[in-house]
Amino acid sequence: MKKAYDVLIIGGGVNGCSIAYQLAKRGCHTAVVEKSRVGAEASSAAAGMLGAQVEIKENGPFFDFARKSRNMFSELVPELEETSGIPVSYLRNGMLKVAQTDEEASHLLEMLDFQRKEGEQAEWRGPEALSVQEPNIKGEVKGALFIPGDGQVKAKELTQAYARGASLLGADFYEYTPVIGLIQEEGKVKGVSTPAGSFYSSQVVLAGGAWSDLITDHEIQIPPMVPVKGECLAVRPAKPVIKATVHAPDFYLVPKPDGSIIIGATEQKGRMDKQVSAGSVQNLLSKALRLVPGLQSAEWMESWSGVRPQTTDGMPYLGAASLEGLWMATGHYRNGILLSALTGKWIADLIDGTADNQEWIETFSPLRLKEGKGNLVETNH
Ligand SMILES: Cc1cc2nc3c(=O)[nH]c(=O)nc-3n(C[C@H](O)[C@H](O)[C@H](O)COP(=O)(O)OP(=O)(O)OC[C@H]3O[C@@H](n4cnc5c(N)ncnc54)[C@H](O)[C@@H]3O)c2cc1C
Repeated sequence: MKKAYDVLIIGGGVNGCSIAYQLAKRGCHTAVVEKSRVGAEASSAAAGMLGAQVEIKENGPFFDFARKSRNMFSELVPELEETSGIPVSYLRNGMLKVAQTDEEASHLLEMLDFQRKEGEQAEWRGPEALSVQEPNIKGEVKGALFIPGDGQVKAKELTQAYARGASLLGADFYEYTPVIGLIQEEGKVKGVSTPAGSFYSSQVVLAGGAWSDLITDHEIQIPPMVPVKGECLAVRPAKPVIKATVHAPDFYLVPKPDGSIIIGATEQKGRMDKQVSAGSVQNLLSKALRLVPGLQSAEWMESWSGVRPQTTDGMPYLGAASLEGLWMATGHYRNGILLSALTGKWIADLIDGTADNQEWIETFSPLRLKEGKGNLVETNH
């Protein structure tokens, strides 16, 4: 039987599944084609932070997109949990971005200024106020930026909830089905080919994370991806030691509602393997224990890694690609969980022709690099 759909999505990560959920909600006959299992890659490795304000340091379309996506979670989560039956542990517990040097403190004060000008909530905590709010943060701390509005979810559960919600609304999921090529005719996409046969649609969304540019085709230019491996670990203290998520310049601690704390994450550009090295674990743990010595007796739980999908200019690819009917939704780098809510809606809006934010269309266009607005590297890795 010919497998034909209104929309085909390549990749069952958090973004592919969020797009499937939004399309299925609109009654669109959708299928997700996934090379492994739903959520097998970066989306299950993430710490789950919804850090719109903590991650982005300047105003612009990306900050606008990120905070709108973050703000969607308070309505989206109850709807998604009810539709899918999967709890995603959404928590708006705030984030503290700590400064360990005077220079870092002055950067954070600049961020405070910019965020307040943009109408976002942000507060400064001097060392004393910080020790009242989080008495277990010790060591040389010059102060911290407190962002009450940034929250968190469990990333793996969020991905599964989007997928289950989409499936219950009628979307089909094909796991262990790698897409090996695009089917095209006269400059238009017609479907995808896989070892299990062809799937047909005049709308295909490429949401393959760091692997997106490995679907090669000499006639279509898929913009290059930059894989950035990240390692994380989790421990469980006997009693809670921190309430807010704590960010230092090169690591973070995310207290989860189940009592565990995720400590992350390394950044290794160009690496796509999943090994976790002893040195990375030691490095992350020793920095975390210096900042929060109360973690010394915490129980060791586990470590893992994943590959973040980066682009060459740091902005995601969200929009029409170089073949009619082909869309891209990838390159979310460190913020794919945060950006998933609006990515799903935005790509669904683009496909059904209701997308109306011209600035986002231009800024996130996968064709921007080709048009000379970025720094296109022509080769795949
Ligand atoms: C250690 C770590 C911590 C992170 N922490 C956070 C965080 O706290 N907050 C946050 O917002 N973000 C975080 N991120 C980033 C976030 O995980 C990613 O941005 C996000 O998961 C990307 O989602 P995706 O759906 O685009 O890609 P992926 O999750 O990588 O999914 C892509 C999917 O496409 C499939 N695929 C690829 N090629 C093909 C093909 N040819 N055929 C079929 N299927 C294919 C893959 O198997 C995969 O399942 C973190 C990442 C890491 C590694």
